[in-house]
Amino acid sequence: MAEHYVPDDLPTRIRHYINGEFVDSVSGRTFDVLDPVSNTNYATAAAGQKEDIDLAVAAAREAFTAGPWPRMKPRERARILNRIADAVEAQETRLAQLETFDTGLPITQARGQALRAAENFRFFADLIVAQFDDAMKVPGAQINYVNRKPIGVAGLITPWNTPFMLESWKLAPALATGNCVVLKPAEFTPLSASLWARIFQDAGLPDGVFNLVNGLGEEAGDALVKHPDVPLISFTGETTTGRTIFRNAAENLKGLSMELGGKSPAIIFADADLDAAIDSTLFGVFSLNGERCTAGSRILVHQDIYEEFCGKYAARAKNIVVGDPHDPETEVGALVHPEHYAKVASYVEIGKTEGRLLAGGGRPEGLPTGNYIAPTVFADVAPDARIFQEEIFGPVVAITPFADDAEALALANNTKYGLAGYVWTNDLTRAHNFSQNLEAGMVWLNSHNVRDLRTPFGGVKASGLGHEGGYRSIDFYTDQQAVHITLGTVHTPRFGASAAQ
Ligand code: NAD
Repeated sequence: MAEHYVPDDLPTRIRHYINGEFVDSVSGRTFDVLDPVSNTNYATAAAGQKEDIDLAVAAAREAFTAGPWPRMKPRERARILNRIADAVEAQETRLAQLETFDTGLPITQARGQALRAAENFRFFADLIVAQFDDAMKVPGAQINYVNRKPIGVAGLITPWNTPFMLESWKLAPALATGNCVVLKPAEFTPLSASLWARIFQDAGLPDGVFNLVNGLGEEAGDALVKHPDVPLISFTGETTTGRTIFRNAAENLKGLSMELGGKSPAIIFADADLDAAIDSTLFGVFSLNGERCTAGSRILVHQDIYEEFCGKYAARAKNIVVGDPHDPETEVGALVHPEHYAKVASYVEIGKTEGRLLAGGGRPEGLPTGNYIAPTVFADVAPDARIFQEEIFGPVVAITPFADDAEALALANNTKYGLAGYVWTNDLTRAHNFSQNLEAGMVWLNSHNVRDLRTPFGGVKASGLGHEGGYRSIDFYTDQQAVHITLGTVHTPRFGASAAQ
C-alpha cells in the first residue's frame, strides 16, 4: 500500500482567532484531532468554552458597533471580498491537500471545493455592489423606502463534510452585508478553518470582524447559540442538532437558517436516458464519499428497466476506485472519523437484513486500516426499511422498484426529509408535473446536483428551514427597515384639540 501522504508544515496546534489574534482557550482545554487514514492524532485543537465565545462575541460586537466594516461602501467591502477570493484561489493546492488530509475527501473533489469557496466570495461581492432596494410612492402623500442594514453578530455553525466550502457559504454573505461573525467549525475537521484567519487578515478585513472559536458542539456551539448578543444563527448539520439549536435559540428569539439532513430520491422512469442516469446517480451518491447532504441515496426505478438498471449500476459501483484520498485516481476516500465509520458500517450490516446486496458490503479488499467502506448497493429495499428512511451519510445506496408515476411519487415523498430530488425522464409533461409534486426544496431534472449560485438552496420538512443562496442570503443577514416620509402637509386626527378651545 502507498505510504500515507502528510502535507508539509502541518500544524500540530489549532487555535482560536479572536480580535485579530490566534489564542488558546482561556481554560487551556484542548481536544484531539485525527486524520481519517491513519486514525491517529495529528493535532490538538483549542476546545472553546462559554468564556471563549464571550470574548469572540465581544470582539465581533465592538467591530460591529464601533468599527468601519458595517459602514463601508459596498464597493469597498467588495474589493476585500475579491481579494479573499483571489487568495483562496491562489492557495487552492494547499487548501485541497489540508482538506483531503483532514476529511478523507478524494483530492480531485477537494480541489473543486476550494474554487467553489472562492466563487462564493466573488458572487456576493458582485451582488452587494449591484444591490438596490425598493422605494414606493403614494403620489402627493408619501414616499416609502427600504433601508437595508446588517444585523450585527452572526453565529455560523458548520459541519465536517466539505468544511471550507460550506464555511464560505455562510461567511461570504454574512460579511458582504456588513455583519461581524463568530464561526464555530465542526470538531472532526478544524484544520482548514484556521486558514480563513490569515486570508482575511491579508485581504484587509478589520480585526474583530471575523472570529473563530473551535470546540465541541455541546460546549462552544451551545454557548454561541445561547449568547444574547448574537441575533442570528446560521446552522448546517444534522436534523437532531437543528432541533436542539431551535429550542435553545427560542429564549432570545434569534433569526435561524437551518440546512439539515436528507434522504433524497433519484427517480428513473422507463423512458430515461439510462446511461446518463447511471453515470449521474453513481456520482450523486458516491461523490464526496457519500458524505453529502444532497446525496441521491434512494434510487427508485421503473419495473420495466429495474433489473437492467440494477445490473449495470452494481457493475459500475464494484469498479469504483476506493483508496488513499490523496491519490488522484481515488474516487471514494476514507470516511471522516472512526465514530462516523462505525455508524455507516452498522447501516451496511442493517442493509444486509433489509435488501439484496449487489455491491460492496463492508471494508474493501486491500485496505485493512483507515475508515474505508466499499461503495455499497442494496436492491429491493422496502419503504419501511431503515436504510430507506434514515440518513446514512456514506457510500451506501438503496434501490427500489415502482410500477407507475403515482407509486413513484408516494415512494419519493415517503420520508421525513425533503432536501433534494432527481428526476430522470424524457417526457416533458411528466418531468414538470412530477417534480412540482416532490416534497423537496430542490429538484434536478436529468442531472445530478449542479447549482447556479443565484438559486435558492434549502430543504423542506426535516431537511431545513429557510433558504440560503443569492438574494435569500442577503435577506437573511440584513434587516429591511421601512422608512416613511410624508409629502406636503401631514393629516393627523387632532386628539385633545376640542377640549382646548
Ligand atoms: P452535526 O449536527 O453533528 O454538527 C454540525 C455542527 O453543529 C458542528 O459544528 C457541531 O459541533 C455543532 N453542534 C453540535 N451540537 C450542537 C449544539 N448542541 N449546539 C450548537 N452546535 C452544535 O452535523 P455533522 O455530523 O457535522 O454533519 C453532517 C450533517 O450535516 C448531515 O446530517 C448532513 O445532511 C448535514 N448537512 C446538511 C447540509 C445542507 O445544506 N442541508 C449540508 C451539509 C451537511
